[in-house]
Amino acid sequence: MTRIALCGVAGRMGQTLRRLIEQAEDLQLSGGIDREPVSGEAARALGCERILAAAGAAPVILESDVVIDFSAPAALRALLEHGASALAGKALIVGTTGLGPEDEARLDALAQAACVVSAANFSVGVNLLLGLAEQAARVLGDERFDVEIVEAHHRRKVDAPSGTALALANAVARGRAVSLDEVRRDGRSGETGARPTGEIGLHALRGGGVVGEHRVLFLGESERIELVHAAADRSLFAEGALVAARWASGRRAGRYAMTDVLGF
Ligand code: NAD
Repeated sequence: MTRIALCGVAGRMGQTLRRLIEQAEDLQLSGGIDREPVSGEAARALGCERILAAAGAAPVILESDVVIDFSAPAALRALLEHGASALAGKALIVGTTGLGPEDEARLDALAQAACVVSAANFSVGVNLLLGLAEQAARVLGDERFDVEIVEAHHRRKVDAPSGTALALANAVARGRAVSLDEVRRDGRSGETGARPTGEIGLHALRGGGVVGEHRVLFLGESERIELVHAAADRSLFAEGALVAARWASGRRAGRYAMTDVLGF
């Protein structure tokens, strides 16, 4: 039985994960982590015996094999700052997006002592798309084909462009052997002038209940290639995170991506 603690347990992804864990015979929810400590009926309504604050989560971590985090960057920071020693020898699955370079460095440091799997998107299809985007960018080059990445998400999403759109942009940049920071262009407005060769454009649409759509366009003078992924249900991401949790439980320390889990 793999014991799992959920960070962000009260959120949309947290509750989707909780339902899937309850249905799985080999998984057990060992506790919840969120903004405030919660106990009694209020905690049980969220599927937990108790919920601890991210800064005081060590007791729940110690009773778990894996911590799955779908929360917010501040929550992950608190978890890493106060729970790093409890996480040693365990596995941490990170789905939270909007992380900065300092957060990534903290995850690298934890990966000396724990198995860390992070992904901007836990769907099998999107991870396949990352490989296809890199390959297409390598084959097509940046002289004859311009790349624009368009993503759409529900109105409640707090970061833009999405972590997945950035991962796709990085995949294209890798395929072209350039650094994304040097060619990235977020949106266009006003007198932009002609499009510079090699630019990678990122565009975010927000509205309604869109679970997540990503489109990578390779635009040539007389032909165009589009790679598209549309998520129909958020349980897709939760299922992928649980595949990662099963894979990571008991695995040696290190920093892994979803492509390692899937064996791509
Ligand atoms: P949500 O807003 O519904 O839930 C977030 C939860 O985190 C809430 O329960 C909230 O109380 C908690 N939280 C926020 N700040 C906190 C803090 N400082 N300390 C402790 N807890 C805190 O959001 P969601 O839709 O469930 O998404 C959560 C995260 O997962 C986002 O970053 C989202 O982009 C990401 N996400 C990733 C994937 C993926 O496949 N990697 C898929 C979907 C969502």
